[in-house]
Amino acid sequence: MLQKCEGIVIRTTDYGETNKVVTLYTREWGKIGVMARGAKKPNSRLSAISQLFTHGYFLLQKGTGLGSVQQGEMITSFRSIAEDIFLTAYASYIVELTDKCTEDKKPNPFHFELLYQTLNYMNEGYDPDILMNIYEMKMLNVLGLYPILNKCSVCGSTDGHFSFSIREGGLICHRCLGQDPYHLKLSPAAVKLIRLFYYFDLSRLGNISVKEETKAELKKIISTYYEEYSGLHLKTKKFINSMNQFRNLL
Ligand SMILES: [Zn+2]
Repeated sequence: MLQKCEGIVIRTTDYGETNKVVTLYTREWGKIGVMARGAKKPNSRLSAISQLFTHGYFLLQKGTGLGSVQQGEMITSFRSIAEDIFLTAYASYIVELTDKCTEDKKPNPFHFELLYQTLNYMNEGYDPDILMNIYEMKMLNVLGLYPILNKCSVCGSTDGHFSFSIREGGLICHRCLGQDPYHLKLSPAAVKLIRLFYYFDLSRLGNISVKEETKAELKKIISTYYEEYSGLHLKTKKFINSMNQFRNLL
């Protein structure tokens, strides 16, 4: 039976001399793996649409096992990402995070939209660090993590000066700092942004410009939280970190 879906290529693996197994994140069915026969041949009609990050319509032959791609039609090529080694690194992390955090065949059209918008904004030149942090914050619920960001995670107070407590799993007010001697300091700007990243709708992203110091605070909090709770160790994330260290030397 042939079925059409809209998807984004989030992983590709060579299979034999000429084939590829392509992992798609689809609007209709969530994550699925499909065989793209002959896609490694440069003149194959499947070669362009089985590239990483491709957003397109895919016509699939679905069977009991792995389905196969019969045809594909590109919707967005995300050319700026493909042509920039730094953006490719960020986008690779976004798709790897998606792949590692989602289960097969579990439809989530909201998540599909989030993935598409993140890559699209990145392609259009929005700050990749900010987009990465927003995506990471939005991914927490998918991972079953619910940080407390609308009040103090100890006393529940909604006013005060807030820091971040990894142990308590959220913000901690100035009155409760003694509860966690290892709390991480946050500026009011960083508190505001971390809440914004977690709660707001990405389709409403305007022109946000964030100071480098604030970006460094956000990265630290989000990375530490992920290290503590997500159980993920992604190569693509390590690569971004070493790439940025290298960049700072230039
Ligand atoms: Zn408190």
